[in-house]
Amino acid sequence: MGYVKFLGTAGARFVVARQLRFSAGTWIELGGTRLLLDPGPGTLLRLRKSRPPLDPTKLDAILLSHKHLDHSTDVNIVVEAMADGGYKRRGTLLAPSDALEGDDPVVLRYVRPFLERIETWRPGDEHGVDRVRIRPVPHLHGAVETYGLVLDSAEGRLGFVTDCRFTADLAGNYAGCQLLVLNVVMKDWKPDIDHLSLPQAGEVIAAVRPNLAVLTHFGTTMLRGNPRKLAQGLSEKVGVEVIAAADGLTVSGEAWSDRARPRAGEAPQ
Ligand SMILES: [Zn+2]
Repeated sequence: MGYVKFLGTAGARFVVARQLRFSAGTWIELGGTRLLLDPGPGTLLRLRKSRPPLDPTKLDAILLSHKHLDHSTDVNIVVEAMADGGYKRRGTLLAPSDALEGDDPVVLRYVRPFLERIETWRPGDEHGVDRVRIRPVPHLHGAVETYGLVLDSAEGRLGFVTDCRFTADLAGNYAGCQLLVLNVVMKDWKPDIDHLSLPQAGEVIAAVRPNLAVLTHFGTTMLRGNPRKLAQGLSEKVGVEVIAAADGLTVSGEAWSDRARPRAGEAPQ
């Protein structure tokens, strides 16, 4: 059975700088394929301190949604660790082109030869890692190239709504997701912000109607508001199970599978 483990749930500069929540990435295991999304500051440490410890040499791929520091600081050290200290050529890196090229690429040229494969996200393409198919969803998020991700495998369809400005077509790109993970930085809506707020996350969840939605990547207003209570309130409002991630939370495939939750209109067996 697959699972998603949240190594860190910090989502704004203040929360990251003070480490009010850890800023490590998300470990995703599907049908034996191991992926790490957005290795922010402290990811290598959190992998090893996790219970049970997670082994970066067992990773198949690192997925970078965008190059902002809270998502990418540990990318180089985790690439090196994935390649057994750089002694083996192994693993895949999937990243936006501006993380690899241009003025300020965050992936060092020094670690690139350690990787078996480097691919840049291309909207409309499907990227494969073993039996997991990954579709990048272009997001609006400041000046950097940013993608959300839809992962399809025998264990269902998972959507990761990473950092983004709310747009009307956002939910449509995540149609059919059984698990939907959303980066929700702010509790209250404000105009012209490049992050999702809680009410906007609610709109996306209500439109996609996953079996389970998980909120993560919290800024100060979300933390002050008590993410668990806010998730519960949203759940009641939209009629979908919504939970708030905490550092170290593991969500098992059973929690998002269709068998566990009959869809509306279906009679429970
Ligand atoms: Zn960002």
